[in-house]
Amino acid sequence: MGEGRKAFSPLGRVVKMSLFNLNSALVLGAGESGIAAAKLLRAGGLEVTVYDQMRPEEARGAQERLQGLGAKWVLGPDAPHPGYFFDLWIVSPGVPLTAMGAPEAFRSQIPVLGELELAARVVNLPVVAVTGTNGKTTVAGLAAHILAQVGRRPFLGGNIGNPYANCALELQADPGRYDCAVLEVSSFQLETVSKFRAKGAAILNVTPDHLDRHGDFLSYFHGKWRIFQNQDATDWAILNDDEYLLVHKSHKARRFGFSLKEAPAHGGYVHRKGAKETLKIIVDGKEAASVPWEEFALKGRHNQGNVLAAVGLALSLGADPRKALEAARDFSVDDHRLQLIGEFDGVSYYDDSKATNPGATIAALDNFKDKSVVLIAGGRDKGLDYGALLAPVTAKARHLILLGEAARTIARDLQGFAPITFVPSMRDAAVLASVVAKKGDVALLSPACASFDMFANYKERGLAFQKEVRRVFANPESRAGAEPEGRAAAPRPAAPKKRRASAARGGEKG
Ligand code: ADP
Repeated sequence: MGEGRKAFSPLGRVVKMSLFNLNSALVLGAGESGIAAAKLLRAGGLEVTVYDQMRPEEARGAQERLQGLGAKWVLGPDAPHPGYFFDLWIVSPGVPLTAMGAPEAFRSQIPVLGELELAARVVNLPVVAVTGTNGKTTVAGLAAHILAQVGRRPFLGGNIGNPYANCALELQADPGRYDCAVLEVSSFQLETVSKFRAKGAAILNVTPDHLDRHGDFLSYFHGKWRIFQNQDATDWAILNDDEYLLVHKSHKARRFGFSLKEAPAHGGYVHRKGAKETLKIIVDGKEAASVPWEEFALKGRHNQGNVLAAVGLALSLGADPRKALEAARDFSVDDHRLQLIGEFDGVSYYDDSKATNPGATIAALDNFKDKSVVLIAGGRDKGLDYGALLAPVTAKARHLILLGEAARTIARDLQGFAPITFVPSMRDAAVLASVVAKKGDVALLSPACASFDMFANYKERGLAFQKEVRRVFANPESRAGAEPEGRAAAPRPAAPKKRRASAARGGEKG
């Protein structure tokens, strides 16, 4: 048996004999991870039914993807529940544990797993995992990049849009394809883990987000901590030393701390001398690697922490510290994360549409000078407190342009600390930004909210902003008559798109 073969336990045997001796499974949610779970369960020989109350057009897409699998499906806005007579339930992360009959399944002692847990019981690779309110995708991508550069064959997936179940399926076809896995893990996925264990697990930060689903901040925080629950002293817990909440809670694994301020005994930090910043890795109290920040393609202070965390993840799998830190230099992030669109009339326009909670917006503002930012924010309210934006907005924002459903709520929390104007559309936001921004300023779309009130997802929102900014400067006359005086005007967001409990939404995740 080759090295790679060990990576995949023959699914039929695992599921049939050692997991639960099961015959049938119900998959709740026909999004990415539901479909991947259905495929995996079918590969294991189970009878599978997929259930989702998704919109008709989404249901058609899911149906096409399920065709030929031999699975049954019950899809559509009024689809009746397929009942409780299944040996195993798989709940997609997009489905609240309070929906689609899941509470009844729990009460009836039916095994209920998430797709991540299911895949983790099948795939036998060393895993590193990252969670946090912000930076998960960046750090997971970076850790996989580093591992690949140091000669490993990482699977990159999880919450990123490539479910871990896909790893099992790919290994079945090509057993040597991966020798480790880097998983982005959301708080929703962590709700349904029980045996999942990572060799290195990171929590980057925890600030309020998704409280509409988690109820309160403490449950959200404790939910994230479950990433460490099955680790022991031979594993690594990679934690942000600058976050009070992440310093004091206990865990069994060895701590790799990262900080933008102070050197940890074992971890990474940013050394500052004058204007020069250098990322350093300390292993067992000794400096093991050092690279000047200017050599990294990533920009933004928050990305310094992201690099250190990703290096920690790679080190937990045995990577050499110097090679790992150097390998991070040429990595850059995908669009809509503090992405510079361009400079127009001396103003730098940034698209940070991926900032879907106040923590990410604060991180973005942190990179700019006082009173230099025209901030465009607002969108679908997730029940968050925008008060955390008060200090950075007061210090950094020249003007606040608010749109979407949350506009009034944000204004209520920040009223009086920066001039505020409500706008009904992204077009108006771009036009107004071009009017109020002064030479040398930054115009920043960093919404602190989800996008679903006016857009399909954060990408569409970011692209709309980019298009409107370019349109303004291609047609300067479009600015005629635009005034910030409409600041008392009530926002007129587009009618919210009605959503049912469905796992098919794209992009913005826990
Ligand atoms: P996630 O996958 O957790 O949503 P991303 O890497 O996609 O994280 O980044 C989401 C948003 O958060 C972007 O606006 C990005 O600029 C910002 N961000 C990235 N890393 C951090 C961090 N460590 N702290 C705060 N904000 C961050």
